[in-house]
Amino acid sequence: MIYENPTAKCYLLLYSSIQIVKGYARSLLIDLERHKMRLIPNEFLEFIDQCKTTYLPTVLKNYQENDQPILKEYMEFIIENEYGFYTDQPECFPELDLTWKTPSDITNAVIDVNKSSKHSYTDIIKILDKLNCQAIDLRVFEHINFDIVTNFIHATESSCIRNINIYIPYNTWKQRAIDKDYFLDYPRVNSFIIHGSPSNIIKDNDYDKRKVIFLQKDITSASCCGYVSENLMIGNMSLFTESQHYNSCLNKKLSIDVDGQVKNCNVQAESYGKYNQIDVIDLVKNNKSFSSLWKITKDDILVCKDCEFRYVCVDCRGLISDNNNIYSKPERCNYNPYKADWEPEPIKIIGQ
Ligand code: SF4
Repeated sequence: MIYENPTAKCYLLLYSSIQIVKGYARSLLIDLERHKMRLIPNEFLEFIDQCKTTYLPTVLKNYQENDQPILKEYMEFIIENEYGFYTDQPECFPELDLTWKTPSDITNAVIDVNKSSKHSYTDIIKILDKLNCQAIDLRVFEHINFDIVTNFIHATESSCIRNINIYIPYNTWKQRAIDKDYFLDYPRVNSFIIHGSPSNIIKDNDYDKRKVIFLQKDITSASCCGYVSENLMIGNMSLFTESQHYNSCLNKKLSIDVDGQVKNCNVQAESYGKYNQIDVIDLVKNNKSFSSLWKITKDDILVCKDCEFRYVCVDCRGLISDNNNIYSKPERCNYNPYKADWEPEPIKIIGQ
């Protein structure tokens, strides 16, 4: 039974969609259903862990008198934000199963384009369709005719692709207004990111949640990637569960660079040949080298393993802080989990 107020024999439990990740200096509470996150003290996690297995009044008694006001605040915080509930039957509320599974051989693809690229989008989409790929980022680095973008989108019709993000330069965007009608015509397109824009603005589409995002920054090559910031954290079930077992950037990813070379990620040097000259399906399914980094989780990576953001932060293994150590931290992250601070300079690892 669930109670509105604590009773003499009740437990205080979090809903299973509320997950807490312990970091070195603080913890992160993630609401996987509402896609929201809150930073909390590690002491809160210690309190809620005890409440899972011990009656709440007993837990409270184990703390000093001067701790009681803060415990009351923790309890109010949990109930008011709908993070948890009081119950006398904790066995009825099992913990979340953190297994991650997908029917896809490749879940996401990146296709890079410059003005010299000669990609056949029909051929690429046929390959991705056979791999049951769900999402594509098309990244156009240089000004091209907008018809090429539209041809790419048309090639995805009748495919299993569900979600497309398109990065184009500001000059390319000026050829065609991306409005509600465009999004209505192309339901697979999730967002347009217009780089090299006069200002940073997000334009919501008045029809649904899809967006046009204007960025001042130029995105001119595959290496304009791998930046880590609080704004880029994603608190959803898919990333959270995948990150427990696999690399949050490279797992089941296929990239095609501006010359048509197939890679796991376009920022990596290693390529496996052109998509129209090799058997890409065989590469993905049978070449162990292609998937060799897929199982590196944030729990394996120096510094990240002590960070409260490790299951909501997308990794980068192409640009790392020590090229001689594949387990080193992403180069473009300035977060220091030991001080709970974003620092301007790369940090040294505690104990080294
Ligand atoms: S330290 Fe690692 S997990 Fe933490 S924010 Fe940086 S890259 Fe992400």
